[in-house]
Amino acid sequence: MGGGVRAESRDTRFQALVSRFMSGDLHVIRPVFDLKHGLRYPDVEEIIGEPHPGEEEFLARLYDAGILNRELYDSVLYCANCGSANVSIRYCCPYCKSFNIRKSSLIEHVKCGYMDVEEKFCVEKKLVCPKCHEELTKMGVDYRKAGVWCTCNNCGKSFDIPVPHHFCRECRHVFPFEQAVFKEAYAYSLNEEAIKQVALDWTVLAPIGSFMEERGFKVESPGLLGGKSGVKHMFDIVARGKGTVRNIIVINVSVSTTREPIPDQFIIEMFAKTFDSAVDKAFLIAIPKISKSGRKLASLYKIHVIEAEKPDKALKKFEASLPS
Ligand SMILES: [Zn+2]
Ligand SMILES: [Zn+2]
Ligand SMILES: [Zn+2]
Repeated sequence: MGGGVRAESRDTRFQALVSRFMSGDLHVIRPVFDLKHGLRYPDVEEIIGEPHPGEEEFLARLYDAGILNRELYDSVLYCANCGSANVSIRYCCPYCKSFNIRKSSLIEHVKCGYMDVEEKFCVEKKLVCPKCHEELTKMGVDYRKAGVWCTCNNCGKSFDIPVPHHFCRECRHVFPFEQAVFKEAYAYSLNEEAIKQVALDWTVLAPIGSFMEERGFKVESPGLLGGKSGVKHMFDIVARGKGTVRNIIVINVSVSTTREPIPDQFIIEMFAKTFDSAVDKAFLIAIPKISKSGRKLASLYKIHVIEAEKPDKALKKFEASLPS
């Protein structure tokens, strides 16, 4: 997992948001609609203490960092003139553009084939065919609905499909689809994999980093070291002693989620990096454990291995292994 997740995980606003997910009172973050702002996320605004649209940028950033998943939830239409979301739709006459139109159903008398708008069939409270004067009683048998038909009250013309126009209730601007401004809004949920990394950071790396700082080291997490080969190597923690003597300690953490020993490959790769960057001391924190062959490799490569059954046990074991 890259530094993006870790950088975000140190942000207190992010910590507040994740705590809400973890405590179970938040599962999916959905936007709510209000006429003034369009779609917004009031829960998130409250948690991070930032007004709209700050919460949108915050969520987008966490999505980019891979911490949140998202899916398209809604799309909001904004006024092309004033930006308000208080926009209605008007169905207009294609001839004169008036929205003063009447919508009716087309009815076909199955027996004689006569078709007209519903009003022409209405006699008192019955439906009667204007052509053959027979009464229509059963829909789908005597008669069928054959679509819609609109008549313009302004110019008197008839048509089947009206033309949509938008009307802004704030500034009274009328605009066609071509000028419409859309914005997508997403529902967000936690990316479980990223959260494992975050949890590891909070429970293992952050406490060990603080501990090293208290011991007088300059700590970077994650940290980069330039190797003799010219390649830069990344470690979970790079701690540099502040004295005149060169003293660089690197720490990597490997977690096996299956409870099996962590793969030996991890130790070989770590050795290649520590050897190239000439570190003074290298620690590998293995959660929960390392294999017998892995232990042999580590001792050959002079990598100090700390096995911790659980992440929250790692700091104590690390402290004990570090000479004072
Ligand atoms: Zn407007
Ligand atoms: Zn018209
Ligand atoms: Zn008829």
